[in-house]
Amino acid sequence: MIIADGITAVGVEAIDMTNIDCLIAGSQKALMLPPGLAILGLSNAAIETIGSGVGYYLNLASEIKKQRQNTTAYTAATTLIIGLLEVLETVEANGGVEKLYEETATRALAVGSALEAIGLHIYPNSPAKSMTTIDDENAAEIRTLLKSDFEVNVAGGQDHLKGKIFRINQMGLISNYEMAWVVNAVELSLAKLGRRSYDGTANKIFNEITFGMSK
Ligand SMILES: *Cc1c(COP(=O)(O)O)cnc(C)c1O
Repeated sequence: MIIADGITAVGVEAIDMTNIDCLIAGSQKALMLPPGLAILGLSNAAIETIGSGVGYYLNLASEIKKQRQNTTAYTAATTLIIGLLEVLETVEANGGVEKLYEETATRALAVGSALEAIGLHIYPNSPAKSMTTIDDENAAEIRTLLKSDFEVNVAGGQDHLKGKIFRINQMGLISNYEMAWVVNAVELSLAKLGRRSYDGTANKIFNEITFGMSK
């Protein structure tokens, strides 16, 4: 069985399901919901392998049986499921998943290019479309400034990357004006740190790519 962690991929880009038996997604990333809902996509082979399952509460067989009756095995996080329907309808109303993938890819390119243009370095070499990660000796200061001066909340690093990187989310439905504000705030933070004088380059590059590519 091939089990794939799609938590930062589902809702970000098309996934080739040909060889995947179980694709896992969570409510808290590109699906734009609070945490608490796990979503599994299972192949027929996976369902066969699960058979009558193992154990009691985490027995997928009981869940599959109940889902086939249009209900759940135990009390579900109904608020999140109702929220998920709302999210999917909103995505549909905004042109569907293909449009969402396209906009996410454009956003990834625009944010990455804007930040590189102001001298920042992207980590790793082939970044995911879900986020732009910057490794920088001032990562912690930039993050603090973004929050205190511009009300921009970006993620830091974990474990050995704590304090060494910051991560900008690109997943989900994000307005261009919001992202333009974020890259501009990063540029202003660099100016506040005395790293470079502000000239609006980040916004210029972001806008050129975003609006140059939109049809
Ligand atoms: C976010 C994420 C998870 C889950 O982490 P949480 O801290 O529970 O949100 C798992 N896998 C990947 C690839 C992720 O990006």
